[in-house]
Amino acid sequence: MDRRKFIKVGSVAVAATAVSGNGIVSAAESLSGKKLKVHNPSGPAVWSSETGKAGEGDLFARFLGTGAADWNGVDERGEQRRLTSILFDNRIFIDFTETDADMLPKGFKSDAVFYTHSHGDHYNAAAEIKYIGASHVYVGATWVEKARKEFKKAAEIAGAECPEVTPLGIGTKVIVGDITVTAMPGNHYIDPEEQPLIYLVEKGDVRVIYATDTGGIPCKAARIAGIDAHDPNGKPVTALVMEATMGIDYDEDYRIFTHSSVGLVKRTTDVMMATGRLKAPQGQPVYLTHMARGLHGTQAELDRDLPEPLRAAYDGLEVVFRAQ
Ligand SMILES: [Zn+2]
Ligand SMILES: [Zn+2]
Repeated sequence: MDRRKFIKVGSVAVAATAVSGNGIVSAAESLSGKKLKVHNPSGPAVWSSETGKAGEGDLFARFLGTGAADWNGVDERGEQRRLTSILFDNRIFIDFTETDADMLPKGFKSDAVFYTHSHGDHYNAAAEIKYIGASHVYVGATWVEKARKEFKKAAEIAGAECPEVTPLGIGTKVIVGDITVTAMPGNHYIDPEEQPLIYLVEKGDVRVIYATDTGGIPCKAARIAGIDAHDPNGKPVTALVMEATMGIDYDEDYRIFTHSSVGLVKRTTDVMMATGRLKAPQGQPVYLTHMARGLHGTQAELDRDLPEPLRAAYDGLEVVFRAQ
């Protein structure tokens, strides 16, 4: 990548509040009630998506973990990323492992957990039962029997209720209250049988693609989400959250067949914007997640070096996704 094209961007996290089933929940508090560390190297709020309260039609997101599988606690630079997980509207999870437990906000609900795939840095039945305890979990149809067995066993060991494990085929839509989650194919390898999933999360006019783990957005997913400009009847999304396992200067990495790089996310974003298929509100970046420890600089370096409109998410970052 040409670093001269990079535009310096600031960085800030602002405590936001979200409307949950039981009224207003301050999502900037950790489970223990302690205030989270706020990453704020360069001054005042820049992005509208990281400020203010979530209104009724907005989709509130909290990144619980933003790291790839090579993270194991605080590293030699003093940086930490938990394994990748996100929570929408304080009640719908995509992926969750034990590493994310201390990022759960106080007062969260456990309406549903969607899994992208069965790799251990995304899925752990025992951790779901111990920390979330949702009545419904959703996995790809190709590995539902494995998940059912593991949830049953984990529930027995914990003496807890076993959630209903529902299989998702490509294109399956699940409506959870006012949020619709659509399963789309990811480009990622687990074993020859398992089809990994990425998701389209919709609430009213807010449409967010959450894409990890995947090497690029596969064509079928692009069609389902409506972002492939071949299709004149497509529909723009309002936000993109995409994995960038590989960092700046790691475009030519052997993981290219199964993961994405900063360069690939940038090109994907540029095409979506040029074709009118990413219509984000002014000031809302494209968020990166699932960043490998060994292939990225620190958060401060990412804040300095990432090309606009890319922004590295970090653990505990809260974002209000609004319609345009
Ligand atoms: Zn992963
Ligand atoms: Zn994986």
